[in-house]
Amino acid sequence: MVITVASHKGGVGKSTTAVHLAAHLQRTAPTLLIDGDENRSVMQWAKAGKLPFTVIDERQAAMHVRNFDHVVIDTKARADEDDLKSIVSGCHLLVVPCTPDLLSLGAMTKTLETLLRIGAKRYRVLLTIIPPKPNRQGEEARELLLARQVPVFDTGVRRTVAFQQAVAEGVTVGVVDRAGLSSQDYEKVGEEMVRLVDCYLGRRVVA
Ligand code: ADP
Repeated sequence: MVITVASHKGGVGKSTTAVHLAAHLQRTAPTLLIDGDENRSVMQWAKAGKLPFTVIDERQAAMHVRNFDHVVIDTKARADEDDLKSIVSGCHLLVVPCTPDLLSLGAMTKTLETLLRIGAKRYRVLLTIIPPKPNRQGEEARELLLARQVPVFDTGVRRTVAFQQAVAEGVTVGVVDRAGLSSQDYEKVGEEMVRLVDCYLGRRVVA
């Protein structure tokens, strides 16, 4: 399974999403995360050697990729039309993280227009860093996207401090948050992602 994570702007949880989806896939089969973002933030995250899957940068990918069942690709931020064309044709599912604020949603519109123009079908927007209730930003953003018939993951990822602690310690969020509340959202997103790809590959009839 090849999953690519791409975003219209930085700071929307792209690398965090790539790391936690790779951790989800690693539970079932060897998973490689390719860090294609020039910031190399996932390579930095992985430096402590505590992530449960293998991380390499894209220059090393050719040598390693055959040893893994699943590949997650973290791409550079601000993908343009040519980038998106290549990205879409090179993965089973494109995950587009977006925070639920108007600035981010507005910036993502361009990406969505491009995906529509190039005829992309296998993509889903993932709402990330959602402020906790009673704030309604997450729900409002979802309603807005669904009203525009944008494909959105059923689950969004809530904002919790554990994500920053996880980066600082070089681990996934489940390791710093023993109660597991912070990792629940990515678990659900991971399950939905697997169902979707199974469906695209004809291994399942209904996602
Ligand atoms: P990008 O790759 O899009 O630049 P990152 O994954 O690096 O975004 O996330 C940007 C910042 O937001 C980082 O400091 C990260 O720890 C934090 N972050 C990401 N997801 C969450 C979340 N669900 N809750 C709280 N902070 C988060």
